[in-house]
Amino acid sequence: SVDKNILEFDPSQIEWNFHKTPYQFLTNTFSLVDKTKSRIKIVDYLTNMLRTIIYHDPENVLPTVWLLSNSLAPPYEGIELGIGSQVLMKAITSVTACNSKTLKSYYNQHGDWGDVAYMAKVSIRTLMEPKPLTIDFVYNTLRSISRLKGSGVVNQKTELVKKLLISCNGEEIRYLTRTLIQNLRIGALRTTCLIALARAFCLTRPRGMIASDERDFPLNVDVKRDSMETIKSKLRSSENLLKECYAQFPNYNGIVKCLLENPIDTLLDICHLTVGVPLRPMLGKITQDLAQVFKKSEGKLLNCEYKYDGQRAQIHMDQDGSVTIFSRHLENMTGKFPDIVQIIPRICSDNVTSFIMDGEVVAINSDGQLQNFQKLSNRTKKNVELSKISVPVCVFAFDLMYFNGQSLLKSSLRQRRDLLHDNFVKIDGRFDFVTQIESSDPEEVHAFFKNSTEFGCEGIMVKVLDDIQSSSENRQRTTLLASYEPDKRLESWLKVKKDYINGIGDSLDVVPIGAWHGNGRKARWWSPVLLAVYNPDAGTFEGVCKCMSGFSDQFYTEMKLNYSKENGNILETKKSYFDVDDAIRPDVWFEPQEVWEVKGADITISPIYRAAVGKVDYNKGLSLRFPRFVRVREDKSVVDITTSEQLAEMFFNQANERKMEKNTIIKD
Ligand code: ATP
Repeated sequence: SVDKNILEFDPSQIEWNFHKTPYQFLTNTFSLVDKTKSRIKIVDYLTNMLRTIIYHDPENVLPTVWLLSNSLAPPYEGIELGIGSQVLMKAITSVTACNSKTLKSYYNQHGDWGDVAYMAKVSIRTLMEPKPLTIDFVYNTLRSISRLKGSGVVNQKTELVKKLLISCNGEEIRYLTRTLIQNLRIGALRTTCLIALARAFCLTRPRGMIASDERDFPLNVDVKRDSMETIKSKLRSSENLLKECYAQFPNYNGIVKCLLENPIDTLLDICHLTVGVPLRPMLGKITQDLAQVFKKSEGKLLNCEYKYDGQRAQIHMDQDGSVTIFSRHLENMTGKFPDIVQIIPRICSDNVTSFIMDGEVVAINSDGQLQNFQKLSNRTKKNVELSKISVPVCVFAFDLMYFNGQSLLKSSLRQRRDLLHDNFVKIDGRFDFVTQIESSDPEEVHAFFKNSTEFGCEGIMVKVLDDIQSSSENRQRTTLLASYEPDKRLESWLKVKKDYINGIGDSLDVVPIGAWHGNGRKARWWSPVLLAVYNPDAGTFEGVCKCMSGFSDQFYTEMKLNYSKENGNILETKKSYFDVDDAIRPDVWFEPQEVWEVKGADITISPIYRAAVGKVDYNKGLSLRFPRFVRVREDKSVVDITTSEQLAEMFFNQANERKMEKNTIIKD
């Protein structure tokens, strides 16, 4: 929805007496965003803030966008602040009148370092007004902190943090502190930021741009001339373009530079799939039942592949032969897999000059048998020496997104797969293609599915080979795309896991957000634990169930140590971004920090749990019945968990499945 607030806003009317944008301008926007749950308002606030900076201070758009995205650089650059509560406490105690005991008590009350620092600092009056912070000063200081290494690093970091804290005023301290511990908590997520950025650049160009440039650089939207319909459609297509661009080239350094210098519609000509820059991977959609898959594919051949239980790896090779390997979350894992880097020249046939490949890295034993994911997680995370590798791995390649200088994203899976098979060579136990069949025969695919689970895989992936025109129940034509769609979870990649037969289709990835003191045998531990799914639109964690099974005693003990006051993981009050009914009152609330995989018997409509509220029933949410803990998902962050949208979809799948079962029984 486009709000008139952004169309009526004119940054040139703002009185602007600043050489550089004050940091307060950003933190005031954060504060506004924090106070609303309306996504329209959040987009408005961010768009208008960005429009102002684009117009008055274009050089600072980039640091603003980095601070807004709660990071300093793209994930694959591995730039980390590395500031923990210790550095923070030291710095806060030395710039305020509070000692560490007082800070800890504030922390126990608020559970948020931003709030603690705000309380500690706001009461202090400094004799001399400090020089106001600017956005670029804050960003550059944070970059300097991230570069510090070696002995004495804690003291050096503390000094720089102190310098920033001293200059903070009002709300600045809250958000600066949250930025320092990399948890901004403003509920404005990647998609929202991208929408705001696209809108801002459609409507504004830098003030200093000279008239001749303006002719070459027409604004995408002309608020005075375009009709509301035109404005909406132009904004929508620019937002989609920016999302598409970010999915292929997730680096604001390139994107913002390009937007400042070129009309937005040329964005993909400049920032697109590039060797060395990881694209956001395409993801699989859950399906409950193979019959559904065949119904949708209308008898066309599908590519069915084993779904291996390992770690996703995006392998890039540049023209100079250099190899980089990225994780599903775009971190650079090259140092973790020198054994993969080593085999790359051997897997390339003579005519390969560059590529980007998608595959799953799976741990194997000395007999070449597949090992489970846990085994793989025993590998050291960084800079493994080839000679010290104790967990051998095999890469199972399943896609090729770039080949010899050409993007293959728009090619069909059939074309991509054929190029993969024709140009790369297997190496026993080190590199292979995923086991696959091409089929449209349900019997055959059922048998393939069974084989995959017997082989130690999680199930199968069923993928569209060539575009399929499909007509849905209400006779609307839809296309199942065979292209590689970065960052999307589409029906053209369906995952069928072994649990679907008797369970709810898939496990859920959830975050523990609270717990009760255990009783009886469990008196020393937390039990049950309150779990939540994630609502990316609202930026909230929505309570979904209480879980008290599947845990070992050892797990309970470790959990009690981890979720403790000493570790700073206990909140005494519910956070504003926890959507949990007042009827559910755990003894303690947890800082969202860990992802758990859970399975359940089924998903039911619930009058008290708020997960996916409004998506299935207007007032009621969804809950998972008989939840059972499976494992901790170390490969996921708290915003990568099951979303309320996915949960609702699982609910509808389950309902369809039951209807089908019922029909079969009646027919029989
Ligand atoms: P899950 O929780 O099921 O592992 P996920 O949320 O991690 O799923 P999904 O996109 O839902 O990720 O499932 C696809 C994942 O399965 C991929 O990210 C990849 O790591 C893995 N995988 C294994 N084999 C294949 C294959 N043949 N094709 C695509 N992905 C595969």
